[in-house]
Amino acid sequence: DAPANGKDCTRFDLEKETELRFEVEAGEAAEQVELELLSGLAEVFGSELNRNKKYVFGPGSKIAVFTWQGCSVNLHGKPEVAYVSKDTPMLLYLNTHAALEQMRKQAERENERGPRVMVVGPTDVGKSTVCRMLLNYAVRVGRRPTLVELDVGQSGVSVPGTVSALCIERPADVEEGFSVQAPLVYHFGSTTPGTNIKLYNKLTSCLAEMFSQRCEVNRKASVGGCIINTCGWVKGSGYQALVHCASTFQVDVVLVLDHERLYNELKRDLPHFVRVVLLPKSGGVVERSKECRRDTRDEKIREYFYGFRGVSYYPFSYEVRFSDVRIYKIGAPSIPDSCLPLGMSQDDTQLKLVPVTPGRDLTYHVLSVSSVDDGDEGARKSIVEIPVCGFIVVTFVDTQTQVMKVLSPAPRPLPRHTLLIMDIRFMDMK
Ligand code: ATP
Repeated sequence: DAPANGKDCTRFDLEKETELRFEVEAGEAAEQVELELLSGLAEVFGSELNRNKKYVFGPGSKIAVFTWQGCSVNLHGKPEVAYVSKDTPMLLYLNTHAALEQMRKQAERENERGPRVMVVGPTDVGKSTVCRMLLNYAVRVGRRPTLVELDVGQSGVSVPGTVSALCIERPADVEEGFSVQAPLVYHFGSTTPGTNIKLYNKLTSCLAEMFSQRCEVNRKASVGGCIINTCGWVKGSGYQALVHCASTFQVDVVLVLDHERLYNELKRDLPHFVRVVLLPKSGGVVERSKECRRDTRDEKIREYFYGFRGVSYYPFSYEVRFSDVRIYKIGAPSIPDSCLPLGMSQDDTQLKLVPVTPGRDLTYHVLSVSSVDDGDEGARKSIVEIPVCGFIVVTFVDTQTQVMKVLSPAPRPLPRHTLLIMDIRFMDMK
């Protein structure tokens, strides 16, 4: 086709209930791809497209443009792949939304709470995408659902190494996803729940409690219910963490993506009133390599400090004296039961705050800034259960002058002085 703005342009005419899948090449030098709806109606993961608007997708994007009625779209640029598929599970996903909406209507009538839904499955089955669609469909019919993000490796809400909750008030932006305003974020500290499963379960319970408290005072949040996105770790302690989540959130529905054994196990282990539903994954979901996941995590941290696409942030760099902060790691290394002090269990060690003496090895680590009140010594024990108010990265440590340099989204001084160290590191290459 004729190039537009010097870019290749390909037109796709989609029949009803089909989708155009395309991927943008990864890597900094890769060219962006623009999508334009010419006629008809179409959506990207549940967010409607406006006609004649150019949507820009950057390197590494993997997108599906679905149409219920049929449409024509243009792709400008050179996608790595682009093809049309007639075989999608979208009708099943829409039916799932319809069933959840029935539950919300019933909740409204009977002054009950709306559906609490947990989405589970192994990695790369499209869990996050299904969550995004269900939230979009709900908010499009006027609901105010809550997204609970328990995927500590690939969080859609905050930086990696956190769990969080976000009230959804409008559909996700086609290019940027959900607007992340005032999320509730807790520090976990690493990218896999297995590094501290006790802490992971504890934080899941904290989120459940906060959500229930909000539901008590906010009827719309209660009727809207929640959609919980989970990690792809579905065996052993990972499985136990899913069962724990179902119980602490008192979920009504579990959507199992593409994993029959997991479906059967959950049906067996969860109370009979929990509806466990097996759904197929979409053939369009793209498997991501370890490197790709690591790049996505890095990108998420970069976005936190520098902004995303049109919105640029200008982070600050300043010095912090060791004596002005208290740095902790959550969880002491496990020691054999026989060596534990009398009356202490492994649980206690996993949730313990261990003071960190600042040294060179702190360099590049991401630190969460706890929102605990400074000087609130009495609260020290429950710092793990207190949300965080932001993140900084240590860029340089001078042990001689007892000072560290940090990258921070806000100017000095630090809003709070209790810092929690993550295993996650970020090298600022900007
Ligand atoms: P994780 O293992 O990180 O939990 P996940 O199961 O949540 O992964 P998603 O993040 O939802 O999987 O999807 C993986 C990738 O596939 C994403 O980049 C998403 O944009 C893409 N994707 C999902 N559905 C489709 C589709 N129908 N067509 C094309 N790409 C898709």
